[in-house]
Amino acid sequence: MQHSPNGVSMIIYDFHTHSTASDGTLSPHDLVRRAHEKNVAVLALTDHDTIDGLEEAQATADSLGVSLVSGVELSVTWEKQVVHIIGLGIDPAQATLRAGLVQLREKRHERACLIAERLEKSGLPDVYAGAHKYARNGNVTRRHFAQYIVEIGLADTIRKVFERYMRPGKTGYVSMEWTTLVEAVKWITEAGGVAVIAHPHRYKMTATTLRRLLDSFKQCGGHGIEVVYGSGGHDAMQSSSALAKRYGLRGSVGSDFHEPGQPGIELGRLPPLPDGVLPIWDLISIPSISIPS
Ligand code: AMP
Ligand code: MN
Ligand code: MN
Ligand code: MN
Repeated sequence: MQHSPNGVSMIIYDFHTHSTASDGTLSPHDLVRRAHEKNVAVLALTDHDTIDGLEEAQATADSLGVSLVSGVELSVTWEKQVVHIIGLGIDPAQATLRAGLVQLREKRHERACLIAERLEKSGLPDVYAGAHKYARNGNVTRRHFAQYIVEIGLADTIRKVFERYMRPGKTGYVSMEWTTLVEAVKWITEAGGVAVIAHPHRYKMTATTLRRLLDSFKQCGGHGIEVVYGSGGHDAMQSSSALAKRYGLRGSVGSDFHEPGQPGIELGRLPPLPDGVLPIWDLISIPSISIPS
């Protein structure tokens, strides 16, 4: 909760965050604590292809009075491109979703072995063990490889590692067929959740292709699009807001927080949804918000 200059209380939402269950650096417990410190009232934990952090996050959220929305960020391959679909308000016990996550975890493992093999062949030492040290629970992402490569001194930032090693076309990039858009939306909706296209302007797509993605997403039964997000500036917000209206999609708000100190990214530190965009949270049952007096 925060007070705007005219004294009106504003609820701070953050519907896109990561913990150590995937490639964030804070444990679910510490992530929720930090969200509470930053006055986030409604928080979704949306780890890549896993819901393993939700139980711990829920316990902390209950003790602090943060309203936690169960979430996930699914890896999808659509027309040979990787697209991220966020599920919000999912039932973590639901069987279809759980089976889907097992498939994605296996693919992550398969890809991690191939990435390690390629980087080791190019002369980097102990890459498999190095990345797994960061992905403590075995759910390996490219960011874990990047953390290891920074550790061994081959670059000073994760961003530079991505530029040199982990981007498409570079030695440590292995393309993977994740799940389909249809399946991802089905897993989310069968688990009682709503599906949201993450960071629409991060994909290297033309405007026409992005519109085709939104058409397909609508046809699959998708619900929303991130309109306000950590890596998107004012232009991305304006353009996503127009897309939300044009496609009848709800708008979501999420920092995509991975670790403290990321330039320009903090839990809950986001502008409000632009006028005229219908909020995704009206479609989600939000556990009661405790309003500090
Ligand atoms: P993966 O899903 O394993 O392919 O990894 C994707 C993750 O890598 C994203 O969620 C980001 O956390 C991270 N990532 C992708 N591109 C970059 C980049 N250019 N700089 C820093 N992190 C990145
Ligand atoms: Mn990530
Ligand atoms: Mn993403
Ligand atoms: Mn994310």
